[in-house]
Amino acid sequence: MNLILLGAPGAGKGTQAEVISEALSIPQISTGNMLREAVKNGTEYGLKAKAAMESGALVSDDIVIGILKDRIAADDCKNGFILDGFPRTVPQAEALDAMGVQIDKVLEIYVPDETIKTRVSGRRVCEGCGASYHIQYKPSKTEGVCDKCGGKTVIRKDDMPETVLERLAVYHKQTAPLKDYYEKQGKLDTVVGQEEVADTVKLTLKAVGAASE
Ligand code: ADP
Ligand code: ZN
Repeated sequence: MNLILLGAPGAGKGTQAEVISEALSIPQISTGNMLREAVKNGTEYGLKAKAAMESGALVSDDIVIGILKDRIAADDCKNGFILDGFPRTVPQAEALDAMGVQIDKVLEIYVPDETIKTRVSGRRVCEGCGASYHIQYKPSKTEGVCDKCGGKTVIRKDDMPETVLERLAVYHKQTAPLKDYYEKQGKLDTVVGQEEVADTVKLTLKAVGAASE
């Protein structure tokens, strides 16, 4: 199954993507994590992406499409994948279609802007492996330490309040039109993000046909 997760920054799509990835045994492909990794390693892509990311803007379509194309060509994507953070613009969605990639379902995790503004400040990310946490909603077992790799969990530079406002504006302007794009293809399904992560997880698993009950 090939899935896309859509959602405003801080709506929790990464967390839901992780859960689906485990439930369906398909890889989670997060362009945000791949770009942060590229920035950390100082690769050519990383150097180009850094300024845009830190200001809350999108990285250019050609860079992201290139990264994504290479990634989904990998062996572990043969039985499907879940795209977390891609596509984020209509041209990116068109590029996927042009590659001949069949998308089965697009799941939007909906959380109102007001909720996002308060939530993002509690967000933490592992410097080592990119896993995401939230001090209130999804804390790591030991504060500041990643459950998965023991790395340090930190606040992302682009999670500063002013940058979050910019990212929300970018989302509404550039990414939200994708809802229409996929609605027209009959692929869009919306899950309303709940206060408790576990409750959202239940709705998400049901939406992708992986519910345990
Ligand atoms: P969030 O969903 O919380 O905003 P991500 O980790 O998905 O965060 O992305 C972080 C940043 O990486 C984005 O603000 C943007 O600059 C860049 N980025 C990630 N995916 C894309 C994409 N598909 N197109 C353009 N920029 C992207
Ligand atoms: Zn980690």
